Amino acid sequence: VARNAGEPEFHQALHEVLESLGPVLAEHPEYVEAGILERLVEPERQIFFRVPWVDDSGAVRVNRGYRIQFNSALGPYKGGLRFHSSVNASIIKFLGFEQIFKNALTGQGIGGGKGGSDFDPHGKSEGEVMRFCQSFMTELHRHIGEYTDVPAGDIGVGGREIGYLFGQYRRLTNRHESGVLTGKGLGWGGAQVRTEATGYGAVFFTQEMLATRGEEIEGKTAIVSGSGNVAIYAIQKISQLGGKAITASDSSGYVVDEAGIDLDLLKQIKEVERLRISVYAERRPSARFVAGGSVWDVPGQIALPCATQNELSAEAAATLIKNGVQAVAEGANMPCVPEAVEAFQAAGVLFGPGKAANAGGVATSALEMSQNAARQHWSFADSELRLHSIMSGVHKASFEAAERYGQPGNYVLGANAAGFVRVADAMLAQGVI
Ligand code: NDP
Repeated sequence: VARNAGEPEFHQALHEVLESLGPVLAEHPEYVEAGILERLVEPERQIFFRVPWVDDSGAVRVNRGYRIQFNSALGPYKGGLRFHSSVNASIIKFLGFEQIFKNALTGQGIGGGKGGSDFDPHGKSEGEVMRFCQSFMTELHRHIGEYTDVPAGDIGVGGREIGYLFGQYRRLTNRHESGVLTGKGLGWGGAQVRTEATGYGAVFFTQEMLATRGEEIEGKTAIVSGSGNVAIYAIQKISQLGGKAITASDSSGYVVDEAGIDLDLLKQIKEVERLRISVYAERRPSARFVAGGSVWDVPGQIALPCATQNELSAEAAATLIKNGVQAVAEGANMPCVPEAVEAFQAAGVLFGPGKAANAGGVATSALEMSQNAARQHWSFADSELRLHSIMSGVHKASFEAAERYGQPGNYVLGANAAGFVRVADAMLAQGVI
């Protein structure tokens, strides 16, 4: 605690993992003897850097850049870049720590890392976003590479930002090294289904959880928060599977559309025009906008928090339970506060933690890396099949580990245990480093 003072999100993520590992460590004293836990909680490398840039008025601005290279026992560091005004060391460390286990759970050869900046892209011009990305990469490029560290997108970093970052990397290194970033455009090294993968994957995971109780998505109403990359494609997949997603939100409030969210309209407003969510209700007669408030007040059988950390409080969990929610899957990272998770589990609600439920994004990033290395392009259908099978594997690994360690149905324990064992075995084999 003293070494990571003032980092509440990092502490929260550590607690969540360490609390569930008791039964695993009891079976594996060799992990304790080898100091696996002490080594795991300390990042292999932390890079903080200055990002100076010039805004449209000619004023010099300075942001802080981060890249936390947490653990590379299984492969190159892998994890997104977040651009949001709230970004600090605590947030990047919690995300990087969770990423280790999530990546391990996918069964692929990827280590854990995360990065970003306190730069806020909202309201910035195209030119400002490009100059910021170029300055950010001017420092970051020294620390990343196909075999070292492969960043991707996260909050505030989508296809546009990855394009500017990749362009600057190519210019600085004189290498068209496709495998250095994932989430690239389809015309220059990107992979089919990467954009859709996290949202689709969260819904596939929900489908698997429901199936353990003989239930399915068809005919169910889903409450979704957020209106970014993860939320949009979660909404799409819910509807493709016969469910109905009736909400979307951003930091200004939420919309409810009892007719089901109109995906084309949502994409136009959020991906093309980059406007506030209230505009959706202005253009759609069946929808209403609620400023502020909690989207979790809206009744539904499925809840998919897809915005940001700690967005679903204990009170929100109580309301969802009262309204008959059956399954909750975290599309975002750590969106449910610990008390909300406990409440869902105590009430017998199926609960899929982010480490498992949103692993589809990074898993498809690893597929992008494979295609880059082999100079191949797989079809949309083939890539979606692979994503589906990876998510089934993540569900199976989490489900079975929960049973094996004595808490059937506890996906939090299952995901942490299964991910941890894979990383711990690799660390054990590679010696004290
Ligand atoms: P986007 O930037 O595309 O969208 C984020 C959405 O969440 C926006 O609607 C945004 O609204 C809202 N939001 C962000 N911060 C806040 C906040 N503090 N309060 C209220 N609303 C907020 O990000 P993504 O969809 O990519 O990421 C969403 C979550 O999913 C994050 O937790 C991310 O770590 C996680 N994730 C993403 C993956 C990916 O592949 N993209 C992979 C795995 C996890 P506004 O515009 O008003 O800020």
